[in-house]
Amino acid sequence: MPGTILIVEDEQAIREMVCLALGQGGFECREADNAQEAQQRILEGVPDLILLDWMLPGMSGIEYARKLRADKLTRDVPIIMLTARTQEEDKVRGLDTGADDYMTKPFSTRELIARTRALLRRTAPQTTDVPVEVDGLSLDPVTHRVQAGDRKLELGPMEFKLLHFFMTHPERVHSRTSILDSVWGTNVYVEERTVDVHIRRLRKALSTSGHQRLIQTVRGSGYRLSAQD
Ligand code: CA
Repeated sequence: MPGTILIVEDEQAIREMVCLALGQGGFECREADNAQEAQQRILEGVPDLILLDWMLPGMSGIEYARKLRADKLTRDVPIIMLTARTQEEDKVRGLDTGADDYMTKPFSTRELIARTRALLRRTAPQTTDVPVEVDGLSLDPVTHRVQAGDRKLELGPMEFKLLHFFMTHPERVHSRTSILDSVWGTNVYVEERTVDVHIRRLRKALSTSGHQRLIQTVRGSGYRLSAQD
């Protein structure tokens, strides 16, 4: 279940400590110093979860949480609010911030990782049997069919799994490592370039209907499925 976590925190020491722990927990960590920088990180790839500090320079964490909730791109991304004092904790509880969970500083990174995992599990879409559709391309996990309009596309089993993963986690960048973990599983030893091979095959299979454009290469980071250019 590893994923990409964005931490928005102006205290560098906390950011580094949290990122180190997240990395050890198998997560990919992105960092932002303030809301504005966070917004840039999000445009590069929507994270699976956001750790958001309450006290930020400029736009406060509370304001930013509201903004994230109002934005189509981020409204479903779970947020854990990081607060400094118990007093604030009460306020967070009382306010409708849009945060899904909160932690009071100082917190143990171990607990943070546990809460992160729990929240991701809780908010993960139950996608296993539900047909998905992106930009005219539809995939049915039950019948194992991929169609572009009326046209049936032929995909190998690995390409099918890969496409299903992308379609259920669109608009965010996935590293080769996280793709391997999610599609191949964590117990299998496969080289990262295996991902590239299957991406190539997937694009080829999708090219008959022009849908190969959905699978985008994000230089230096990995791949993303997006209906936008
Ligand atoms: Ca702060």
